[in-house]
Amino acid sequence: MKKAQKGQKLPEPHPHIGLYTHAPAERSPHGWPLCVYCGQPADALDHQPPLSRVDDYQKLYLEREQYWQVKACKPCCELLGDDLQKDIFVRIEALKYRLQRTLRRHDAALSWADDDLAELGHSLRSKVSVSAAVVSATQPRIDYQGGLRLLREATRRT
Ligand SMILES: [Zn+2]
Repeated sequence: MKKAQKGQKLPEPHPHIGLYTHAPAERSPHGWPLCVYCGQPADALDHQPPLSRVDDYQKLYLEREQYWQVKACKPCCELLGDDLQKDIFVRIEALKYRLQRTLRRHDAALSWADDDLAELGHSLRSKVSVSAAVVSATQPRIDYQGGLRLLREATRRT
């Protein structure tokens, strides 16, 4: 007979986790779930409202929207943090707005002409190429609408 392992406890589930519904997510051709916010491979979960803000949410918003647990990528989770939004759609807007801000910041660096670039020092040139990489990685994340579409369908159904 196997001895019961002592001292091993499952972590306590968050007291509010039962309120949340799993949101649908698109999948990559390899079956990997995609971040509902930006379409990158999801390696984390985000919560609307954030788990740590459920009490605030219930005080602030008397009309209870649906509580969503969504597949997300870590960069999107970090951009949103524990900020409180009214519903998942406002949270998506907030994320896109923050990505736009990142894009604008790096876009400015790309206005250098090639001649100017040739004259720039090495470190400035490499900053410009970092900005180019950020811009080309960020634009598709802003344009991604797949998660929004699925959530709209899911909210209509409920
Ligand atoms: Zn994302």
